Amino acid sequence: MTDERRGRPAPPKLAAGSKGSVVVERCQACDSPDLVSVLFLGFLPPVNTMPPVGSRPEQQPMYPAQVLRCRHCELVQLGLIVYPTVLFPPSFPYTSGTTKILRENFADLRAEVEALYPLGRDALVVDIGSNDGTLLGNFLAAGYRVHGIEPTEAGKIAREAGVPTLTAFFDRTAADTVVRESGRAQVITATNVFAHMEDIHSVIDAVLSLLADDGLFITESHYLLSLVETLQYDTIYHEHLRHYSLTSLRHLLAMHDLEVVHARRIPTHGGSIRVYAARRGRYPVRDSVAPVLEREARELTEDALAGFRRRVVQAKLELLALLRTLRADGARIYGIGAPSRASTLINYVGLDDGILDCVLEIPGSYKIGKYVPGTLIPVFAEARLYTDQPEYALLLSWHIADELMPKLRANGFKGRFVLPLPVPRVSDGSGG
Ligand SMILES: [Zn+2]
Repeated sequence: MTDERRGRPAPPKLAAGSKGSVVVERCQACDSPDLVSVLFLGFLPPVNTMPPVGSRPEQQPMYPAQVLRCRHCELVQLGLIVYPTVLFPPSFPYTSGTTKILRENFADLRAEVEALYPLGRDALVVDIGSNDGTLLGNFLAAGYRVHGIEPTEAGKIAREAGVPTLTAFFDRTAADTVVRESGRAQVITATNVFAHMEDIHSVIDAVLSLLADDGLFITESHYLLSLVETLQYDTIYHEHLRHYSLTSLRHLLAMHDLEVVHARRIPTHGGSIRVYAARRGRYPVRDSVAPVLEREARELTEDALAGFRRRVVQAKLELLALLRTLRADGARIYGIGAPSRASTLINYVGLDDGILDCVLEIPGSYKIGKYVPGTLIPVFAEARLYTDQPEYALLLSWHIADELMPKLRANGFKGRFVLPLPVPRVSDGSGG
């Protein structure tokens, strides 16, 4: 490749504040126009637009979900950036996403930082998108200084738990505020937000202004290799602007003279990657990095991604064929769990209220009493599973099926389970 593109791309055309969506014509990281299509899931409705049950369908936008791969830096990214007010409408309430697996992961993160890069007692830890303060609570409990940055109401919960939290989107202004109040950070974390932020170069610039000279920038993102391995195409929706590999993330960080010094796969969100970066030359690059890059070079080639696409299409056809036989016998099929990924799966496969009777959510979910986006499939409270006893429960949160099936069984569900991915199949929940 002759064009090294070491320079920074021109400021991107932003969807935020523009009222319009932006078609990605050049790579969001390296500005190359050499983008090839990996997969097109069709036009999908925004996942947080859920009309109340009983209302008549209204005019509603749909957005193309095309996944592109940059041939220069290998970044896999969505082909359209939808303007944020569509994705996060004012009516969209805050719900805490802090599950057991996330809490364990955050405890593990602190333990790993302390083991690999021991912190001074007065070290400052800053979390970008700090939510209800769960991650920082771990560092606070160990005696470190902490500061969260969180745009939603969740910051209030954090403050009540003693975690100082700035209510703001993370940008240069927010970074400057934290520096004024608490100084520069020894550790900056960004878990499950780094793939969602639009103007990624400005975000990294702001990180650098906040990071101590010998500080660490730690990101956790849903991992492209996990997505490909276990066919998690349902994690493709418009909030996820990018699906990082270590290769593409390393390239992006290097544009800002940040060097990846440690990387590790972690189990959150069906398979994520935790990446430590520091200013170039500040720390030795650990042995953990090279094997990940080597594996990606073998398993995330353009050919491998073409194979991924074929498997996605095959899984769609197989799921429809499986549901056809179940419905032909007159079985009732209830979906379990209405996370964002359920909307992608249901809309891409083309499930409707003639195939799925309803989708069930845990009590308290704001989705109860609404329709699944793009359909007339109603969302009800989970109690119906035990009173109605449908013959089949389709696990839309299939990536945590091992956790979910014993729980539903213990609560009294007597039917069988349908797992839609990676290979559509019926299971009795006992590992079969
Ligand atoms: Zn690129």
